[in-house]
Amino acid sequence: MSAQEHPLGISFEFFPPNTEAGRDKLMGVRDALAERRPRFFSVTYGAGGSTQERTLHTVQAVRQSGITTAPHLSCIGSEKARLRELLARYREAGIDSLVALRGDLPSGMGGIGELRYANELVEFIREETGDHFEIAVAAYPESHPQAPSFEHDLTNFARKMKAGADFAVTQYFFSADAYFHFVERARALGVEAPIVPGIMPITNYTKLARFSDACGAEIPRWIRKQLEAYGDDSEAIGDFGEEVVSRLCQRLLDGGAPGLHFYTLNQARPTLRVLDNICG
Ligand code: FAD
Repeated sequence: MSAQEHPLGISFEFFPPNTEAGRDKLMGVRDALAERRPRFFSVTYGAGGSTQERTLHTVQAVRQSGITTAPHLSCIGSEKARLRELLARYREAGIDSLVALRGDLPSGMGGIGELRYANELVEFIREETGDHFEIAVAAYPESHPQAPSFEHDLTNFARKMKAGADFAVTQYFFSADAYFHFVERARALGVEAPIVPGIMPITNYTKLARFSDACGAEIPRWIRKQLEAYGDDSEAIGDFGEEVVSRLCQRLLDGGAPGLHFYTLNQARPTLRVLDNICG
């Protein structure tokens, strides 16, 4: 079975570019990835609404491809009135999918807002808009970095799903076992909805290490060591990254993952290289 034929298929995440050149480049990336028949594209959202307009404009541009495009929406630092208004704008624009998040408030940026956690945002969206939106939420196979324990985070995840989410997309990880363990434990808590693994193609060690430290994703020592050894040889990093990530994806799909969600970082090639290797 090809990756596209799994129940949730493949999906690709973008961030809203902040320059004209970045916007033009993204349209090329979108077109290259659209050929792989993704189930959806998604576009990230800056905490506290800092990219609200750019996210919406990017969603509008990306969905001209004819592929469903879901804005991410975070609640931290936002009042209900503002979120209500944004949901109305999304509906008017014909958007019917969302990735609902708490988000992270940059230090020094205002108060928490009226909704403290993603489960409250999911409840709010359901109360305000019924079943209009398909809602995805975030999952953390290696635990959210602020969670005091794995169990605590898992319980919160189950609560968020039961608040009305349709499926989950995970933080990226490099251990297939962490994903399978998380799914098994979530199922034991009654979560039946699909949990799609989030996949980060490896292209740049310094950036990957920085991201991973911030979001709590573990880079196994053997991968770190190998990437460190390549120094600034980006071709060697790309080749090794392709091999590691392709093998991970294949294991996930073989083990029953319902699809794959790629963190593209607005680049097509690293994701396409992996897709060319998996399934067939
Ligand atoms: P929550 O599910 O609310 O969890 C946050 C923490 O609070 C966890 O430790 C959890 O255990 C705990 N918790 C949850 N509910 C409760 C509760 N009811 N009571 C007590 N504790 C609770 N960030 C962005 O800024 N923009 C984006 O576009 C974006 N997209 C993302 C997409 C994906 C697929 C993923 C995995 C992450 C994304 N993030 C994004 C990062 C995300 O915003 C951060 O990880 C953030 O810290 C948590 O958001 P959440 O929705 O997972 O929060």
